[in-house]
Amino acid sequence: MTWSRAQLLRGFLAAALAAGVVSGGCIKGRALASGGLKQFDSARELMGTLVTITIWAPAQEIAREAGEAAFARIAEIESLMSRYRAGSELSKINRRAYEESVPISDDTLAVLGLALEHGRLSDGAFDVSMAPLGKLWKSAAGSGRAPGASAIEKARACVGYVNIALDEKKRTVRFLKPGMEIDLGGIAKGYAVDQALAELRRRGITAALVNAGGDIATMGRPPEAKTWRVGIQKPNRRSGRLPEVVLLTTGAVATSGDYERFVEIGGERYSHIIDPRTGMPVKSMSSVTVIAPDAATADILATACSVLGPKRGVELTAQLANVEVMYAIAAEDGPAVVKSQGFDKYVE
Ligand code: AMP
Ligand code: MG
Repeated sequence: MTWSRAQLLRGFLAAALAAGVVSGGCIKGRALASGGLKQFDSARELMGTLVTITIWAPAQEIAREAGEAAFARIAEIESLMSRYRAGSELSKINRRAYEESVPISDDTLAVLGLALEHGRLSDGAFDVSMAPLGKLWKSAAGSGRAPGASAIEKARACVGYVNIALDEKKRTVRFLKPGMEIDLGGIAKGYAVDQALAELRRRGITAALVNAGGDIATMGRPPEAKTWRVGIQKPNRRSGRLPEVVLLTTGAVATSGDYERFVEIGGERYSHIIDPRTGMPVKSMSSVTVIAPDAATADILATACSVLGPKRGVELTAQLANVEVMYAIAAEDGPAVVKSQGFDKYVE
């Protein structure tokens, strides 16, 4: 357990700076006590990113126990859904689901259900079966050569969320085509953040913020503040601070496709987000921020909207209740911003 004051603060500050997130006066407000509640910040490396948790609680022991349980819940989800662990449930699905129906946990069932629903909603822009394309582009980055058209076509033939058969009653998953694999990288962090918050709620916490590398969910609000304040990630270091500050009480925000996450092949920059319909990485170097009632939805839609681009992304979110999107498209003279109609409701 690493809850020493110095470590906690250092971890939290690093995360806050890296993600451009400042919440509820966290950084200066650590010593603040309000209405009998104090702020406790902690950070841990999970799911390949820095996860920070801010809890308002009456005593350190209460915050510590709740925080530990929340981190343990995230670790549990990581062990199910990691594609880097041979023993994860995801790895087992990818090895076996074409041959037979594979029984899955409630968590994986919930995540796959959400993924398929949003696959349909986004017309295939969000597709967890894009893994063969993800692998192809990753190995291309390793070799320094972009894949050829025939390799892309071959991988693309194995991609298609409609060929994932999820049996909600039997709690199993099966692939309908050979060569299929799934990758939950566009959704698992958001789901884990929601689950961490739910764990805190079960333990009596009423005000908290969980941030997994830009996938953020909040509950309640800090005492004496009307809302949590969340700074939005910049599309690149040169673009300065975006003016927008999202104000949330209970809700979620996720940012995808930031300018710094890409692979370089032959001098070209390729995003880690792939358009499953073309097999090509998303071109425009922008960051996409989605506000939604929960972090799993925000996470999915930030990825989906990166694929769809501003026009179709705004159209998609307009169909969904309490969902807003903002694109910050990197440009030499600062980011060009495109927002859905209701986004400004969340801006100070
Ligand atoms: P995020 O950072 O949430 O936008 O998620 C990006 C990750 O989602 C990538 O690293 C892949 O693991 C996965 N991914 C990439 N493209 C897609 C897509 N079109 N649909 C679903 N998941 C994707
Ligand atoms: Mg995402």
